[in-house]
Amino acid sequence: MSVWIDTHCHLDAPEFDADRLEVRARAAAAGVAHCVLPAVCAAHFEGIRQLAHQGGDSYALGIHPLFTPQAQEADLERLDQALSAHRDDPRLVAVGEIGLDHFVPGLDRERQQFFYIEQLRLARRHGLPVILHVRRSADALLRELRRLPVTGIAHAFNGSVQQARAFVDLGFRLGFGGTLTYERAQQIRRLAATLPLSALVLETDAPDIPPHWIYQTAQARAQGLAQGRNEPAHLPAIGAVLAGLRGVPGEEIAAATTANALAALPRLAIIPAP
Ligand code: ZN
Repeated sequence: MSVWIDTHCHLDAPEFDADRLEVRARAAAAGVAHCVLPAVCAAHFEGIRQLAHQGGDSYALGIHPLFTPQAQEADLERLDQALSAHRDDPRLVAVGEIGLDHFVPGLDRERQQFFYIEQLRLARRHGLPVILHVRRSADALLRELRRLPVTGIAHAFNGSVQQARAFVDLGFRLGFGGTLTYERAQQIRRLAATLPLSALVLETDAPDIPPHWIYQTAQARAQGLAQGRNEPAHLPAIGAVLAGLRGVPGEEIAAATTANALAALPRLAIIPAP
């Protein structure tokens, strides 16, 4: 069986409170050997570290752009301290999830920008890659990356071909997940099919971005069905869709995306085997 890495999974989300261990066990049974768990706010740093250790997974520490309205400047000091305190922990693999969201209305862009830039500086100071949230913000993210170079993963990538190439040229891998399972997601499918395989990593972003086979339409939701909860066990099936788009065997996608994840997040390579 092929071995897969879910490079972006919010296993600490409340959606998994009732059955977190079963969710992780189902992922392992499906061939997902490893999950990278990105934090979204300072209050979650310790919990996500513990969760990663319990599951044999890894974690990233950072302040998500959608959490900047309630974040304090002191949270950047907490991040700096946590990155120092756990500097010898191989399971701490990145600063993330950080970035810019220019899609969700009502967010203060300057405030997002402030937290993004400060966290790029922390990533550089601590010698860690970043896990980036990109939503209608690729050019703004790239502008700062050229001033403050780091590498890492642009997660749930949704930009243009030119923007994809710009991230790759800066040494980034691009994260693809459930969105590429939708036929109507033509731009993302085209990118996933045509970018160099060395640029791609796989992710679920669970509990979000359900693949099409668990997606409930607005009509079904109006009739009372809950939106399908994504979970890391779906990753190999998403990888199979990517294999179909590229016309290569699934094992080749598993091997390449696993190697790419290790290249993007080098500490993954030194985590002791379970
Ligand atoms: Zn995320």
